[in-house]
Amino acid sequence: MTKTARRVQGFGTSVFATMTRLAQEHDAINLGQGFPDFPAPDFIKQAAIEAISAEINQYAPANGRPRLRHAVAAKMERHYGMSVDPEREITIMHGATESIFATFMGLVDPGDEVILFEPCYDSYVPCTLMAGGVPRFYTLPAPDWRIDPEQLRALFSPKTRLVVVNTPHNPLGKVFTRDELELIGDLCREFDAIALVDTVYEHIVFDDAEHINMASLPGMRERTVTVSSVGKTFSVTGWKVGWTIAPPELTQAIFQAHQFVTFCGAAPLQEAAAIAIESADSSNYYAELAAMYQTKRDMLVTGLRSAGLKPLVPRGSYFVMVDISDLGFENDVAFCRYLTTEIGVAAIPPSAFYHHSADGANLARFAFCKTDELLDAATQRLAQLR
Ligand code: PMP
Ligand code: GLN
Repeated sequence: MTKTARRVQGFGTSVFATMTRLAQEHDAINLGQGFPDFPAPDFIKQAAIEAISAEINQYAPANGRPRLRHAVAAKMERHYGMSVDPEREITIMHGATESIFATFMGLVDPGDEVILFEPCYDSYVPCTLMAGGVPRFYTLPAPDWRIDPEQLRALFSPKTRLVVVNTPHNPLGKVFTRDELELIGDLCREFDAIALVDTVYEHIVFDDAEHINMASLPGMRERTVTVSSVGKTFSVTGWKVGWTIAPPELTQAIFQAHQFVTFCGAAPLQEAAAIAIESADSSNYYAELAAMYQTKRDMLVTGLRSAGLKPLVPRGSYFVMVDISDLGFENDVAFCRYLTTEIGVAAIPPSAFYHHSADGANLARFAFCKTDELLDAATQRLAQLR
């Protein structure tokens, strides 16, 4: 008798855990899993310590501590001119991951179709399947990952319920343009679909790229669920404080699911997240974060080029994709294994982000959310590839 429910059969182990374990076994520099290896800012750590000392240690309200909901609402107004009701339109959850899961559970019925742009973050397909939804894939074409309007339109149908957009994009580093988001929005309205927009890298954008808030586009306010979290923005990926922002009727549905998944997230960390968001704008934190990551991006891109690799320069997020097609490896998995075990640098094989693994076979993903020293050390090891 198989003890595994059909719902989760075939999910396997996440590629991030697999590559981190391989990196540890071979003492490789881990440019695979995307987590900062440098300290989180003092002001957010101090706020968490103080929250615990102040006895904010019992359950938070199921939709999150009011101070955090108000801080998120005020930030949306400041950054995107979007007015959000912190009582009826925000739900604080256990990271963006739970926010995405609860959105699927609350909004997708069995048989509903879900449009996913691939490569896509590894939780979207399992969430679709656990909700009983049917994934419909739009494969973004290399090297510029632009959307063809007619091909995208062909994926929509009266069964389309949800369209998942991740901008800035993991793993591509693509920042969706206003035109692209308007195109997706037009199709959502025509086919009465909802946009789930994963914006966890909203504050990590480079050069002249601009993060556009989908919900601010004409007609999209009432059909957009915006997801974000503090993990990337404040270099605390282990905190798992995230949220959804959606109109009241959608929030109500998402909340129904959330209350029986975790009920609430970690109360003192919510308080600390609120304090961080309240002060970030006045201390110029977001601009400094983007500038820091732009320098790290440039360091890694230079290192990859000097090793003879071909990086595709990202406009946002903290990942770089590399075109490995002319290196002579069987596929991305073989290349990333070789790189980890023989060169001592771990990267992620992007085939894990595609439903046809062959589509990712010519790529490798490197993370640059690492100290300059580690990026330098990785560059030196990569030079052996020459
Ligand atoms: N979405 C994307 C695109 C991500 O890269 C991540 C990072 N793991 C998440 C969601 C999950 O965020 P969190 O850690 O807040 O759950
Ligand atoms: N978001 C991180 C990445 O893409 C890792 C997330 C995880 O380990 N689940 O590397």
